[in-house]
Amino acid sequence: MSDKSDQQLHQEKMQKQKEKVDAHIAAADLERGIAILMTGNGKGKTSSAFGMVFRALGYGQKVGIIQFIKGAQDCGEADYLSKHCPSVELIQMGTGFTWNTQDKESDIVAAQRTWEAANAMLASAEYDLVILDELTYMLGYKYLDRAMVINAIKNRPTEQSVVVTGRGGGRELREIMDTVSEVKDIKHAFKSGIKARKGVDY
Ligand code: ATP
Ligand code: MG
Repeated sequence: MSDKSDQQLHQEKMQKQKEKVDAHIAAADLERGIAILMTGNGKGKTSSAFGMVFRALGYGQKVGIIQFIKGAQDCGEADYLSKHCPSVELIQMGTGFTWNTQDKESDIVAAQRTWEAANAMLASAEYDLVILDELTYMLGYKYLDRAMVINAIKNRPTEQSVVVTGRGGGRELREIMDTVSEVKDIKHAFKSGIKARKGVDY
């Protein structure tokens, strides 16, 4: 039988854990904005980005959101922000999914016009947090020049954080981001025939 009580063992384990965490915290001494990529095939990329929007708003920070692709379908989070958070700058590309519009030329024009707004946010120290939702598809379809996008993200103001969402994105984009999270698709309700749900899926 062990001489130590469960409580003692637990306390020792937690103490070791605390020392590890404290050491990591002490080692992270850079203070600057963070570039985050939320990618992968699972559900949760855009909703994670909007989670960060609410965090930033909690501290009175200035938030800019650009939604590539979205604009043609309902989107509860965007509706809420435009009604209740006038300080948030929200710009939507306004075309539907590319497989709906099936018009490459007009999609390219829309993507480039939307990029101008994104680029202006990335150049402005006024914004603490910039969300570039579904940007990766614009790179995948070659609607936007990859080097141009990467340079704008790299050269943004030091204090500004940026969140890019969307599947894929490519190696070069991953390399310049500070945090890259891949949401894995284990299963999705839609594949069992459950309809997309208001307030959950859109
Ligand atoms: P969310 O906006 O819910 O965080 P997401 O941004 O990760 O999702 P997108 O690829 O942008 O995913 O697609 C948005 C919509 O597609 C949502 O309605 C979401 O539930 C659905 N979706 C996401 N991943 C899958 C999947 N693996 N299979 C089927 N539908 C999916
Ligand atoms: Mg998304």
